[in-house]
Amino acid sequence: LDREEPNYFGAGPAQLPTSVLQKAAVDLINYKDLGLGIGEISHRSKDATEVINNSKEHLRKLLSVPDTHEVFFMQGGGTTGFSSLATNLMTAYVGATGTVAPGGYLVTGSWSQKAEEEAARLRLKTEVIFDSRKFDTNGKFGSIPDESKWADKINGKKFSYVYLCENETVHGVEWPSLPKCLEDREDIEIVADLSSDILSRKVDISKYGVIMAGAQKNIGLAGLTLYIIKKSILENISKAEANDELLAKLNVPVTPIAFDYPIVVKNNSAYNTIPIFTLHIMDLVFQNLLEHGGVEHQEKENNQKAEILYGALDKSSDFYNLPVDPKCRSKMNVVFTLKKDGLDDLFLKEAAAEKLTGLKGHRSVGGFRASIYNAVSVQSVEKLAKFATDFAQKHSK
Ligand code: PLP
Repeated sequence: LDREEPNYFGAGPAQLPTSVLQKAAVDLINYKDLGLGIGEISHRSKDATEVINNSKEHLRKLLSVPDTHEVFFMQGGGTTGFSSLATNLMTAYVGATGTVAPGGYLVTGSWSQKAEEEAARLRLKTEVIFDSRKFDTNGKFGSIPDESKWADKINGKKFSYVYLCENETVHGVEWPSLPKCLEDREDIEIVADLSSDILSRKVDISKYGVIMAGAQKNIGLAGLTLYIIKKSILENISKAEANDELLAKLNVPVTPIAFDYPIVVKNNSAYNTIPIFTLHIMDLVFQNLLEHGGVEHQEKENNQKAEILYGALDKSSDFYNLPVDPKCRSKMNVVFTLKKDGLDDLFLKEAAAEKLTGLKGHRSVGGFRASIYNAVSVQSVEKLAKFATDFAQKHSK
């Protein structure tokens, strides 16, 4: 089972390490010589439980998850993640305070925007703390306003949680670090979508109430989402759920049972049928990362890849337009357009001829997007950077 190493820059589902897929392919057919594949056995069997426990342990190691936090997995993706976060976190706030407060949203791109819209659709109270388009000279997503411009919006206010998307996959905008004014608020739970940058860089888990990440970019196949949650939040949800009358009075919707975090945790991520093959692949990705220097090494490599690609595009800045403020350029999704009209199709065609694929920008933004997730090699990025430089030289006149 082999393949030529791809140079694939798709935004998701994305490329995974070939060695992981080779091992997974064998295990899909005959896991540990059971005569059955890993996806064919009961999700409550000893072997499946071992996969769940190992995945949790490996993730804990990779991210130094403290004892204050629990790790669990749930069917679904990023959308299931932000829908379920909204009801669970509002419920937790009721458990902690006996009241409701809006969920606050820092809107820096289409995923945080969608998360806020979804919470509002569920008839939960929300507040957009800022929408970065209002601070942007072009009125577009592509920058993150300085804290001094919005910190007063949270001063003295209560929020059941504050939500942000650490890496906006469509717009290529990534928070360089958590905003200090939020970190300083011990009474606010920071809830973050790390779907497209989990395990790409070190993060301090103790600062987060919840981290959620869909698998299909840096850590696996579509269909599974991971969560890292403060244990006190789980306790507060259970406390509120024991008082259904109060939840009804405060108009807080009941979370569907398969997405109720305390229930999922109590059942070790197997309340309902967890896709165990998908989780096994995630664990193989974790193990692969542990064997190759962990997140620290991966972060260095990701920095190097981002420097190579942004460096090449910046050098040809007469030809390429990079719409994102350098202060918050994503190290995962490099978004760019051509300044000259009429060359987009040719760019993709000539790139494909060099076996560089998956470069088309998101349909809502246009242009190009090179996703350089963990599994994309430095060599692939160098090849793309050279192609971009050559293409600019060839078509500049
Ligand atoms: N959040 C982010 C940052 C994403 O990039 C995506 C999808 O690309 C989502 C959420 C939604 O994920 P899904 O399609 O798995 O629901």
